[in-house]
Amino acid sequence: METKVLIIGSGAAGYSAAIYAARANLEPIVVTGMQPGGQLTITTDVENYPGFALIQGPELMEQMRIHAENVGAKVIDDHIKNVKEYNKSRFKSTGNISDYYSDAIIIAAGAQAKWLGLESEKKFQGYGVSACATCDGAFFRNKVVAVVGGGNTAVEEAIFLTRFAEKVILIHRRDVLRAEKVMQDRLFNNNKIEIIWNHVVEEILGTENPKKVTSMVIKSIITRSLQEIKVDGVFIAIGHAPNTAIFKSLVEIDDQGYIITKPGTTLTSKDGVFAAGDVQDKVYRQAVVAAGTGCMAALDAEKFLESKDS
Ligand code: NDP
Repeated sequence: METKVLIIGSGAAGYSAAIYAARANLEPIVVTGMQPGGQLTITTDVENYPGFALIQGPELMEQMRIHAENVGAKVIDDHIKNVKEYNKSRFKSTGNISDYYSDAIIIAAGAQAKWLGLESEKKFQGYGVSACATCDGAFFRNKVVAVVGGGNTAVEEAIFLTRFAEKVILIHRRDVLRAEKVMQDRLFNNNKIEIIWNHVVEEILGTENPKKVTSMVIKSIITRSLQEIKVDGVFIAIGHAPNTAIFKSLVEIDDQGYIITKPGTTLTSKDGVFAAGDVQDKVYRQAVVAAGTGCMAALDAEKFLESKDS
């Protein structure tokens, strides 16, 4: 497939870039990636996206897709595995179902959940261990679940899980949360939630037949003592990592894996390649910021293509 602008990723950054690029007659193609709609599709209530006092994440992303398609963007459910510059400022992106040739690329591939890295966490993934309360919360009706982390995601997931679970235990490695104050207030006021401060997860334990989580071992970072607590599920909510592995040989990336952009722009180290959203943002990581940088990337790409034509 041929296009002037290929947009890799379909979160708030990708769709906003698509809307602007389509309205500039650049006939963009959006390749959605493995998680069409991005991270907002695995969240529930969104209360901070301007214009929507309250909307569900998946609904917001569906609206963005419809909006992008309505103004002329082509959205393809494919996953890009490799991107190469094959001629001067022509790019070939290889997907699972097609190759895409473009004059410019907007990388908006987002970020994904981080895991603790325990063997037992991996073993019980899908059998009581999850990184998505929205997806799996309903399996824990009247059960006891733990949430690990102290950021907005952990707090949001803990509160959400109280809709189903009998008790939610938030386990955090420090004695202060990183989450916004308003979220903390909601957490502290929820009597289904218990907080265990200054503890990390040592092990997740369970049975083989049926395969399920039954408890976890946590360690105090102050006394180093171990404690086993009974839980039916463990939700890991310790942050995200940018999806930039396939772009490492194309553009400059920092030591945490984020694409480096020229300050105040979406320009990367490679002419014709622009980056928007969580692949290049380790500070704000908000949908509205991703949407803003998506818009910037489309405008930057438009300017680049104009200068190439003239
Ligand atoms: P954050 O990076 O903000 O928080 C990660 C949390 O996990 C921190 O509390 C951190 O602890 C803890 N942590 C990290 N690694 C480990 C580990 N190995 N073991 C134990 N704990 C660990 O990530 P979030 O996903 O919470 O949020 C990402 C961004 O998305 C933020 O900007 C957030 O504001 C935003 N967001 C906004 C939402 C909303 O507005 N509705 C909802 C969800 C996210 P420590 O604090 O000690 O570093």
